[in-house]
Order: sequence, then C-alpha cells, then structure tokens
Amino acid sequence: MKLRYNCRLYPAPAQQGSNNRGKARDKVAHAHARVADARRDFHHQLSTALIRENQAVAVEDLAVTGLARTRLAKSVHDAGWSTFVAMLDYKARMYGREFHRISRWAPTSQVCSACGVKDGPKPLHVRAWQCQACDAWLDRDVNAAVNVAKAAGLAVTACGAQVRPGAMVPAPRSEAGTLPKPRRQAA
Ligand SMILES: [Zn+2]
Repeated sequence: MKLRYNCRLYPAPAQQGSNNRGKARDKVAHAHARVADARRDFHHQLSTALIRENQAVAVEDLAVTGLARTRLAKSVHDAGWSTFVAMLDYKARMYGREFHRISRWAPTSQVCSACGVKDGPKPLHVRAWQCQACDAWLDRDVNAAVNVAKAAGLAVTACGAQVRPGAMVPAPRSEAGTLPKPRRQAA
C-alpha cells in the first residue's frame, strides 16, 4: 500500500515581501493578540475576585527579571506575573484591602510553616515533603503561601488545602461583593 503524504501539513515559508507573507504575519499577530487578550481577561477576573473576597492579600515579589534569564523564563513571561501583581495592587487600593509584597529573598520554601525550622532549598520537582523536625507533611505551594502570609504579618489560622490559592484572610461576608465592579483598564 502506498503511503500518501499531505503536503499541506508542511507549507513552504512564504516568500519575503510576498502578499502571502503579509497574510501569514497578520495571522500570527492576530493569534498573539488573542492569547494576550484572553490572559488579560483571566488576570482581571482572578484579581478582582481575590481582592473582593479577601480583606488582605499577600504575594511574593518574584525576581521576574532574574527568572527571565533562567530556564523558567517562558513560564514567568507567559504568566505575566508582574502585570497580575500590579492589578492586585491597584484593586486592593480601590477596594480598601490590605496588599502585601514579600521580599523575593524570603526563604518561603526553605522553612517549615508549622514549626519554623529552616531545612534548606529543595529542587523544584519536590512538591511535598515531611518536616524532619516536627513531622508535619508540607505541600510546597501551601507551605510557601503560609510563610508569605506570616511574613506579611497576617494571621494564618487555616492550614492545608484551605490556603492553597495564596495567603488570604477572608473578608467579612457583608463586605464581599458590595462594591461596584472596577472598570476594565484600557490596554
Ligand atoms: Zn516543622
């Protein structure tokens, strides 16, 4: 049996200066713009929800420019962390919430959030471990979130999965969702 290849899967690059090259470029630009729009929408929705539903939010001030030179560059740039943090910041002011930024040098994943013992850095693939000092099982993200909240001077009463999305203190029920929606920022 003869194999049939679909050459449309491997289009030749359009000639420089040709009309098709212009079209291809427009298509790519359009796709990039759509991804950027979707990401901005997501960041707006998430930051608004986080700020409205919590009295205080603390984030780790990641060294984005430093990370941008490492293997993590793509995820850092793609995630648009700086833009997202800026949204949290201005929305916190808008809604009268506390907003804290923790130093990028805080050893948030090196310290046990239960007993405070510092047991050093762990490779990124280590997502959970047991503290050798107090036997607590620690989830990397939850542990870091609790440490961020503590560094911000926030009282952390919840533990485990309840603090997973970040270090947050719930807003009083009556306050959440009573303010008008902030207007979309122009790009
Ligand atoms: Zn411990």
